[in-house]
Amino acid sequence: MKFASEFRDPKLARALLQAIAEKADAIGATREKPVHIMEICGGHTHSIFRYGLDKLIHEGVEFIHGPGCPVCVLPRARVDECIELAERPEVIFTTFGDAMRVPGSTKSLIQAKADGADIRMVYSPLDALELARRNPDREVVFFGLGFETTTPSTALAIQQAAREGLANFSVFCNHITVPEPIKALLDDPYMMLEGFIGPGHVSMVIGFHPYDFIAQDYGKPIVVAGFEPTDLLQSVLMVLTQIEAGQARVENQYGRVVPEHGNSVSIAAINDVYEKRPSFEWRGLGEIDASGMRIRDAYRAYDAEEKFGIGYAVGRREVPEVEGCACGQVMTGRIKPTQCPQFGKGCTPETALGALMVSSEGACAAYWQYGGARTAAE
Ligand code: SF4
Repeated sequence: MKFASEFRDPKLARALLQAIAEKADAIGATREKPVHIMEICGGHTHSIFRYGLDKLIHEGVEFIHGPGCPVCVLPRARVDECIELAERPEVIFTTFGDAMRVPGSTKSLIQAKADGADIRMVYSPLDALELARRNPDREVVFFGLGFETTTPSTALAIQQAAREGLANFSVFCNHITVPEPIKALLDDPYMMLEGFIGPGHVSMVIGFHPYDFIAQDYGKPIVVAGFEPTDLLQSVLMVLTQIEAGQARVENQYGRVVPEHGNSVSIAAINDVYEKRPSFEWRGLGEIDASGMRIRDAYRAYDAEEKFGIGYAVGRREVPEVEGCACGQVMTGRIKPTQCPQFGKGCTPETALGALMVSSEGACAAYWQYGGARTAAE
């Protein structure tokens, strides 16, 4: 516990807040003309609200919440396909709990389970493999979901299934990547961002050089950050320091966890099992080139899309967003969750229209749970 408490030390947090305030004043950041810093990762969004950093920080610093919640960006069409897979009588559909309440067109996975589908929550793809071993007469499908953080564990499960020759295991692959949506945001002429807080857990796997383009091509600073309050405050200070100096670099605040070049074993597993899809649809963001992973032909037998003739194996289906839902605008930082006309009215955790309200990393869930930000309250 000592290791965690050191990063929640109020005295250190106060000193960092003071240093941020001085730096913000020095660069002329005000409430009317704030510095916009996007925290890409939904885990960071929740830490910011959980510790009240949005309210404690100098009013010239505005947090913009990014698209780094993998459950939130899953389009309704993919949720519908999950449910179709799960409702096949021969299938045991396995998933992390976070995805259970994400709304599809007609229902969520939890509603499909209540309707009789055999859906089981697992803690790891290896749990799904074990289910496949124990149920040779059933098809076990694992819902592969997440950024580079979770992609390697799914790859290792597929490699293990191949070694064992398990014929009744497959993965519905929805693994996605961080750099491409950030590039899409930076290419948006209406996006106003002066710096980024980079996702620490993703960088544990890929290192921090995949973000070099943010500094080199777009001239924006990015600091890879940990998840404790002083990690985030120190990272904001590092971004502001770069802005003050007129610099744009990739820096690593989370050095205790993030190696410069990532984890070579995980990267090797990713490269062995997956290749980039030409494009992948993101909820609220549309198609983004090379932003999703698919299973290589060498492991085709473990690709649920190929096995069951669904998803990108047969063609993309168009499923429009719910009318009035502003998930895309929230995920691209254009508006705050409370500015969505549905927030707290048509959309609550019990009656969610978008995944942002039910995911543990969703921005709307953070506002709902922790009472919203200064900008929302005033
Ligand atoms: S309040 Fe609901 S509909 Fe609006 S952006 Fe959030 S999740 Fe989407």
